[in-house]
Amino acid sequence: MIIVMKRGATQEEIDHVQEHIVRLGYTPHPIYGTERVVIGVIGDDRNKKQAIEALTLHEGVESVTPILKPYKRVAQELKKERTVVNVGDAKIGSAQFVVIAGPCSVETEEQLIAAANAVKKAGAHILRGGAFKPRTSPYSFQGLAEDGLKLLAAAREETGLPFVTEVVTNRDVEMVAKYADMLQIGARNMMNYQLLREVGATGKPVLLKRGLAATLEELLMSAEYVANEGNEQVVLCERGIRTFEPFTRFTLDLSAVPAVHSLSHLPIIVDPSHGTGRRELVKPMVFAAIGAGADGIMVEVHPKPEEAFSDGAQSILPETFHGIMDEARRYVAAAGRTL
Ligand code: PEP
Ligand code: MN
Repeated sequence: MIIVMKRGATQEEIDHVQEHIVRLGYTPHPIYGTERVVIGVIGDDRNKKQAIEALTLHEGVESVTPILKPYKRVAQELKKERTVVNVGDAKIGSAQFVVIAGPCSVETEEQLIAAANAVKKAGAHILRGGAFKPRTSPYSFQGLAEDGLKLLAAAREETGLPFVTEVVTNRDVEMVAKYADMLQIGARNMMNYQLLREVGATGKPVLLKRGLAATLEELLMSAEYVANEGNEQVVLCERGIRTFEPFTRFTLDLSAVPAVHSLSHLPIIVDPSHGTGRRELVKPMVFAAIGAGADGIMVEVHPKPEEAFSDGAQSILPETFHGIMDEARRYVAAAGRTL
């Protein structure tokens, strides 16, 4: 950390700060400039956040700047090679551009199998589908629960596609982990730290969606909870954030992709379905995500969007998805990846 003393700080004030630093277990390295004194402190300061913040209260201190990011395990600065998350044969974070597709919710066997076969045929690598749905209204469809997980397992059997599905409460983690190839933490649960811990402890790959109003630092701190359980198989997902714009459901923050790549070794994918809430915007946002350097996408595909139990307005038809996949190959190749 770097402590900048105020212009005109007295030697007594400088000594006080240095004594405090020594009490914290560090060695201060003061630099006496012509106008002011700067004290450098080397060492990992992340466990002593409160104590370091208290330094700003000392007389004569102008600012205290930590050098290290508040997250460790997921930080780029501590691990230079990129993490690759394996889900079935898919390698998220490698040169492969990974496509996750399927309905918002698992509704019926017919619906899920039709969607699974269609996305497989179009070239998707992972099937998605919610068996537990975190809905804004308690009166909306809440998901088929374990019956939905069984249908997802049947779809995997039929298509060979691994699947990702959301777990919304600690109570269900064990059960969902028994069926799923990857566990999804939804945007509304990104800050449910107990859930993050328990999901991390399963050792299963985790898809962590960005909270509706979460900063990138908060997203990475949540990933740190999972990684702290010894599980670095975490994929982040930009799914749009709340802004003042009502035309789209959320505002898809594509700058999060290169930003996260500069901060963390974890892969990041983009969800243009929830990110826009409008099916006609899915295709251009898929191409934009590829351009931004995303490691993959997650798209909602439904055989009959007008009959969907949830998120019909943002779900695309299987044939539309097929068209997007065909067109995406050019963009993926231009980005130096394979589909
Ligand atoms: C989902 O992907 O099924 C979902 C509910 O998305 P989010 O948590 O991003 O709203
Ligand atoms: Mn949805």
